[in-house]
Amino acid sequence: MKKHNFSAGPCILPQEVFQKASEAVLNFNNDHLSILEISHRSKPFVDVMEKARSLALELLGLEGKGYKALFLQGGASMQFLMTAYNLLENKAAYLNTGTWSDKAIKEAKLFGELVEVASSKDKNFTYIPKGYNIPTDADYFHCTSNNTIFGTQIKHFPETEVPMVCDMSSDIFSRQLDFSKFDLIYAGAQKNMGPAGTTLVVVKEEILGKVSRTIPSMLDYKVHLGKDSMFNTPAVFPVYVSMLTLEWLKNFGGIAAIEKINEQKSTLLYNEVDRNPLFAGVVATEDRSHMNTTFTLTNDSLSETFDAMCKEAGINGLNGHRSVGGYRASMYNALPVESVQVLVAVMQALEKKA
Ligand SMILES: *Cc1c(COP(=O)(O)O)cnc(C)c1O
Repeated sequence: MKKHNFSAGPCILPQEVFQKASEAVLNFNNDHLSILEISHRSKPFVDVMEKARSLALELLGLEGKGYKALFLQGGASMQFLMTAYNLLENKAAYLNTGTWSDKAIKEAKLFGELVEVASSKDKNFTYIPKGYNIPTDADYFHCTSNNTIFGTQIKHFPETEVPMVCDMSSDIFSRQLDFSKFDLIYAGAQKNMGPAGTTLVVVKEEILGKVSRTIPSMLDYKVHLGKDSMFNTPAVFPVYVSMLTLEWLKNFGGIAAIEKINEQKSTLLYNEVDRNPLFAGVVATEDRSHMNTTFTLTNDSLSETFDAMCKEAGINGLNGHRSVGGYRASMYNALPVESVQVLVAVMQALEKKA
């Protein structure tokens, strides 16, 4: 039975990527060796790493602009502390838009003074704060572009003189932005780029080397840059599958092309959430995420019926995050429009039945 996978992460990747990845496990590059058994220092793998790094910069429009890409380990969660370790000398400014920002703030506090410029905690993170001030003497400003759990997304980023750091784990490569506004971008691969196990870091080299503390090698961006993202054994398979996904996206027409499809999908679903009296949106309309749509049933007693109908239709991964409840449809790049059409049809069928 065909599945429609709305899982929030790890999540759907393009079918052709799964196909190529599985072939490489058995016979990589037609060398009759598995990608899992060759040295990460061998030319075939070094080529993979270099291709993944350059594709990331190319797709973001950051080639030749002083940026470098790294594929590190430890997840986006490691970046919560690594960014602060490398960049926070005196004071940093953070925008708090949800669980992930909260966690980033907790880690950064270990390294210096922290200013929370604004927070949407007062309304359980159902909106994006606006009109806040970023102190000009901050070492950097940190924000989370897409709030995976609550389903909000920053549509307009602030203008500021201080370096901008952004956790783009759940919407990188999904929409066009002027990525050169950011000085450091990080993203766990498992939302929109590849399997769990590697994290993309895109950093403008000139912002590094300014803190006075000693940084352990594994946590020092400069050390990883100096070794072309091969300071230690990288997550070879996650990097390879990320490279395949980035290639797929490039062949698809890049971010501009996928953004159109992503808008189509989210419009389809939000229109139904708004139209259908059995469903209600959770977050402020203008801040709705195009990647993760959160919604609830207006009548809880229908949940068993709705869940059974979803299961019947092959819909997977629609449960809201355990901290929020309700439903969450994650519509990452690889999710076809058809899957959203199936979900909308089930919502309409429930309305007819109720
Ligand atoms: C999933 C997620 C994280 C956590 O990523 P890990 O790789 O599990 O550490 C951090 N930030 C955002 C926005 C996420 O969606």
